[in-house]
Amino acid sequence: ASLLRHSEAEIIKILFFKGIAATINQTLEVETIELVANELGITVETASHSAEAAKVTEMLESSDLDHLQRRPPVVTIMGHVDHGKTSLLDAIRNAKVAQGEAGGITQHIGAYHVDVEQNGEKHQIVFLDTPGHEAFTAMRARGARVTDIAVLVVAADDGVQPQTIEAISHAKAAKVPIIVAINKIDKESAQPDRVKQELTEFGLVPEEWGGETIMVPVSALQQQNLDTLLEMILLVAEVEDLYANPDRPAKGTVIEAHLDRARGPVATLLVQNGTLRVGDILVAGACFGKVRAMIDDRGQRVETASPSFAVEVLGLAEVPAAGDEFEVFSDEKSARAIAEERAAAQRQSRLAQAATARRVSLTSLSDQAREGELKELNLILKADVQGSVEAILAALNQIPQDQVQLRILLAAPGEITETDIDLATASNAVIIGFNTTLASGARQAADQNNVDIREYNIIYKLLDDIQGAMEGLLEPEL
Ligand code: GDP
Repeated sequence: ASLLRHSEAEIIKILFFKGIAATINQTLEVETIELVANELGITVETASHSAEAAKVTEMLESSDLDHLQRRPPVVTIMGHVDHGKTSLLDAIRNAKVAQGEAGGITQHIGAYHVDVEQNGEKHQIVFLDTPGHEAFTAMRARGARVTDIAVLVVAADDGVQPQTIEAISHAKAAKVPIIVAINKIDKESAQPDRVKQELTEFGLVPEEWGGETIMVPVSALQQQNLDTLLEMILLVAEVEDLYANPDRPAKGTVIEAHLDRARGPVATLLVQNGTLRVGDILVAGACFGKVRAMIDDRGQRVETASPSFAVEVLGLAEVPAAGDEFEVFSDEKSARAIAEERAAAQRQSRLAQAATARRVSLTSLSDQAREGELKELNLILKADVQGSVEAILAALNQIPQDQVQLRILLAAPGEITETDIDLATASNAVIIGFNTTLASGARQAADQNNVDIREYNIIYKLLDDIQGAMEGLLEPEL
């Protein structure tokens, strides 16, 4: 929608009249995109391989392809609560940033960068400094892709826990490579090998066991092995082919934003393509702005920010939402017009959404399967105990998948939580609960996001429904 300079609602409307029912966070096939673009008199050029290799394709345009330069990786740290995400972020920052910096003053703007020397060359790594899943799910649900690499922290004395499994599912769903940091190896009770063993059950097999996942034992507390972790991040970044074109107006994503009493709206912008400059005119989400000042993660005022770097920006007229995309425009008048248009479109689509509240339900998926439109059925499975999870997975595997592929994004024992809803929203998945309950807040979140939760206590009924939906035979719910 933003490339075509039309509101999301309009695009959805055009699709609707072509008989395609699409949701705002759905990925469209190239042919479908061409259909819409043709309608608007715009020619579609399919991006070449190099643009694909550059990962954030939506941030790159064909005119960038001749000016691509390597950019630093943007890393998110994920993992179970108390396994040491915050400690690891702080440890890396203290080890790498404080020393030699003027005054060592750092400030939390939602992201920071470190300099790492490797083979005599200077490299940089940018960490998103918002532990938890925000950077992943909330933003991905909005269509923003901000992370290049996920570092999964697992405490060596506690092993794989529910949020570890969630983090793995989220990273896999976003197709982001995972590096495992086995933390707290300083503890006497640490059992790094047990952690590795447990992780193999989730498809993460360490390199030394013939797998492909890099696993680094670390101690955030004692700052052990952090350099190795950073080296491994650079190694993965190398393979990921991360490029951007610094010689163009900036584009990127809002990482954090708030209203500051003294300074007005303050937003941390992650530049994903181009270079952002003081004085630039931009639109972030539906907010107009003129960059009055930029402050980097070391508290310094800066004049420019290049790809993969995040800066705090002053000068927006309003507070955008985290996950909103931003873009620099050459002239103020059209930027204001676009911001206003978007604000109006947002209001409209909010109204339209409230009115039609289309949900990805097992029944609607079944309808799509009947029409031959469904290729993948995304499921999240929560059950009372591990035994049930395994039994159900084994049975699901028996269902023929030649027409529709079954994709299990997450299968774990436990309650259905808000994080499950987030994942379902981001991935258009249906949640299946077996002999389990909803955690507080989950129902409300599901209703807000139109997520279908199906609850069962008889396995064959569950299997019947899934198979029925895949074959397009599921009867509407009463
Ligand atoms: P988060 O919830 O994942 O952000 O975890 P925190 O960073 O808050 O850490 C949880 C607890 O584990 C804190 O008490 C930390 O001091 C402790 N911790 C973190 N890393 C290490 C480590 O490497 N070794 C030891 N012994 N304790 C650690």
